[in-house]
Amino acid sequence: MRAYVPSYQLISPATLGEALDLLAEDNDAWKPFAGGTDLMVLLEAGQLPHTNYINVWNLPELRGIEVTDDHVWLGALTTYTEVQDNSVLRGEFPMLCQAASETGGLAIQNRGTLGGNIVNASPAADSPPALLAYDAALELVSTQGARWVPYHSFHTGYKEMSIRPDELLVRIRLPRTTRGRRQYYRKIGTRKAQAISKVCLAALAQISDDRIDDARIAFGSVAPIPLRCVKTEGALRGQKLNREIIERAKAELAREIVPIDDLRSTRNYRLRVSLNLLEDFLVTDT
Ligand SMILES: Cc1cc2nc3c(=O)[nH]c(=O)nc-3n(C[C@H](O)[C@H](O)[C@H](O)COP(=O)(O)OP(=O)(O)OC[C@H]3O[C@@H](n4cnc5c(N)ncnc54)[C@H](O)[C@@H]3O)c2cc1C
Repeated sequence: MRAYVPSYQLISPATLGEALDLLAEDNDAWKPFAGGTDLMVLLEAGQLPHTNYINVWNLPELRGIEVTDDHVWLGALTTYTEVQDNSVLRGEFPMLCQAASETGGLAIQNRGTLGGNIVNASPAADSPPALLAYDAALELVSTQGARWVPYHSFHTGYKEMSIRPDELLVRIRLPRTTRGRRQYYRKIGTRKAQAISKVCLAALAQISDDRIDDARIAFGSVAPIPLRCVKTEGALRGQKLNREIIERAKAELAREIVPIDDLRSTRNYRLRVSLNLLEDFLVTDT
């Protein structure tokens, strides 16, 4: 049943400073409201937990995509449409663009934000595997100042994160180190559009003369958090790419992920598909 709307409060601060002051008010009283595509679903279902929200949509510090020599900086409010429209992202970060193009439908892509996707912290979300494989970092800002957190250490448990109630996610930083690397993104869902993933893989590798110099592998929907598979990466790094190594990496992956049975899929299906996707990534020369 839909929640009773007048019992909620939404404030639109004029500046980032005002927003941070509200977040710093007594413990956990205010929550950020970005595109609202996750929060409005909860409102409609009568399950929106907090009553006080800060509309961050108009804060310029959380907007825009900036490209410098070594990094791309994405405002937390960057929408999926903005991701797909950016030529540097299309050229160097195609997995993020593909994730954006397979997220929801056009309305969600115009309104949903990367920051909201990250902090909503669904293990089935589509952008986090790409952001993990790209070694993203997050800028968290509060009245105390700013700090950067490597994205691979941000999710600490199901819906638990390294962000304090007084902090706002302001920017996401991607290192521009993807040139010449093999990149592979696959979302497996029930349909081609408007589906929540059953399994999702984002993988990136530097392979020269059949030797894997570096690999970054991240899965969605196979653990309580979006998972960077560092042990599987370790099984591949520095190895000659051959059948034996592929099988060894698959065995490592089977130990590293913890898929579950739920209403969207089964543990066995998720495990089998994850192993198949890893193999497909390793044998597909793109
Ligand atoms: C029909 C539909 C289809 C969808 N399909 C997909 C899909 O295919 N794949 C997918 O991954 N997701 C999907 N989603 C989920 C949703 O659209 C995304 O997670 C989206 O990116 C959320 O962004 P938002 O700005 O709307 O977040 P909001 O709903 O505004 O906020 C989500 C959470 O993040 C917090 N938050 C937001 N911004 C910040 C910030 N800057 N700093 C700190 N906390 C913040 C909020 O407090 C809230 O807890 C779908 C949703 C709907 C309704």
